[in-house]
Amino acid sequence: MLDVQANFNKIRQDIKQICDRIGRNPEEIRVVAVTKYVSIQRAKEAIEAGVIHLGENRDEGLSEKFQELGDAATWHFIGSLQTRKVKNIIDKVEYIHSLDRLSLAKEINKRAENPVKCFVQVNVSGEESKHGCKPEELETFIKELSLFTNIKVIGLMTMAPYTDNKDHIRQCFQLLKRCQKKVQALELSTAPCNELSMGMSNDYEIAIEEGATIIRIGTSLVGNENGGG
Ligand SMILES: *Cc1c(COP(=O)(O)O)cnc(C)c1O
Repeated sequence: MLDVQANFNKIRQDIKQICDRIGRNPEEIRVVAVTKYVSIQRAKEAIEAGVIHLGENRDEGLSEKFQELGDAATWHFIGSLQTRKVKNIIDKVEYIHSLDRLSLAKEINKRAENPVKCFVQVNVSGEESKHGCKPEELETFIKELSLFTNIKVIGLMTMAPYTDNKDHIRQCFQLLKRCQKKVQALELSTAPCNELSMGMSNDYEIAIEEGATIIRIGTSLVGNENGGG
């Protein structure tokens, strides 16, 4: 039987050990439980285990779980977001991790009633299949975003490639950290950019070592009910 509480305890213990080893404060790191592969019941177990932040990557999944669990959690939208879907999620989520283009920003800005905490997604691996702004276009994009009063760029987000090559994963996370420094150097009040959303089940240790403040964990926390676990 999958035990969400035991998994959460183990992840928190891991975070503490990694932080102790590298001299970071474990309280800087928040865990978002990614519930996209699991039932409402499993998501509920996560909340009962003490998880506060839940993440979904599709508007249907988010709406379904939000209807049942709503105020019991803080909701993060982590998937690629079609502009026409913004209206379905905007009143449910507190964080959007996948802001990657101006048309999307425009729609979020229009639909939101208050500033939304956004992460700009950056394609650090250069893979064609990955969403996200190119690193070399990031500063221009961030400056353009400063025109939208309902968008606050609290950080950057990325997904490392799916590979066993730990050096390559690390390089991707290091590049995101360098991108963050460039954005911070712009000193825009609309883009404090203090957060780094990076690290998933397979690579969160490396992500924490490289400065993650939010890790997004699905499989090793709540399991995957579509594919075993
Ligand atoms: C699915 C997903 C995750 C979690 O992946 P796991 O490997 O199951 O931990 C994290 N971030 C994003 C953007 C995802 O789509």
